[in-house]
Amino acid sequence: MILVLLGAPGAGKGTLAEYLKDVLKVPVISTGNLLRDAIAQGTELGTAAKQYMDKGQLVPDELIVGITLQKLSSDDCSSGAILDGFPRTVAQAEALDAHLKVDMALSIEVPDEQIVSRMAGRRTCPKCQSTYHVVNNPPKQEGVCDNCGTELETRRDDATEVVRKRLSVYHSQTEPVKQYYAQQGKLVSMDGVGSVAETEHRGLQALEAWL
Ligand code: AMP
Repeated sequence: MILVLLGAPGAGKGTLAEYLKDVLKVPVISTGNLLRDAIAQGTELGTAAKQYMDKGQLVPDELIVGITLQKLSSDDCSSGAILDGFPRTVAQAEALDAHLKVDMALSIEVPDEQIVSRMAGRRTCPKCQSTYHVVNNPPKQEGVCDNCGTELETRRDDATEVVRKRLSVYHSQTEPVKQYYAQQGKLVSMDGVGSVAETEHRGLQALEAWL
C-alpha cells in the first residue's frame, strides 16, 4: 500500500508515520529526513537543498522527485511505503502517479497558530531524526534521544519566523495537492489537534475505515 501523509509542517506526519508503519508493515520515506541526511553527509544534493530549507522554502521539484522515486523502487518498498512530506506540490504528485498507484492520502489538519506553538517546543535528534516535544512528547531523559542517546537539537527551520514562512508555502504550494487527491477520491482528512495518542488513534481509525 502507498499511503501519502499530508499536513502542514509540525502537523504530526512524522509521528503518525512511525506509528502506522508497524500497522501496515511498510517503511516510511520522509523526504525531509532524506534531505537532512544529505546535508549531514555533505553531498551535492544536501548543499543544494540546504539554502532552500534554511529559508523555509521547498527545494525544487527536480532535486527531490528523482531521489524519492528511486527510494520507492528499492526492494524495501516492494510492499509499499508511507510517504511523509512527499508530494508537496501538484507536479510532484503527478510525477508520483506516473510511476505508481497511490492508495490513500491522509491529511492531518491543525490550525496555524497551534502549529507555531508546537514547533517552538519541538526537539529533533540530529543522528536518528526522532522528534520530541518538550511538553507533549518529552524524551525520558531531558534533552537526550530515547533511541540513540544523542543530544537533541532545535532544527534551524523550526525557528518561529521560518515556521511562518513554511506555513505560507504549505498553503500556497502543498494545499492544492489535497484537491488533487480529492478529485481522485483518495483524500481523507483527520483532526490533528490533541495528544500524540489521540492523533494515532484517529489515524488508525481513518486507515481502518479506508481499508
Ligand atoms: P520536513 O522535515 O518534511 O518538514 O521538511 C523540511 C524541509 O525539507 C522543507 O521545509 C523543505 O524545504 C524540504 N522538503 C522536504 N520534502 C520536500 C518535498 N517533497 N519537496 C520540496 N521540499 C521538500
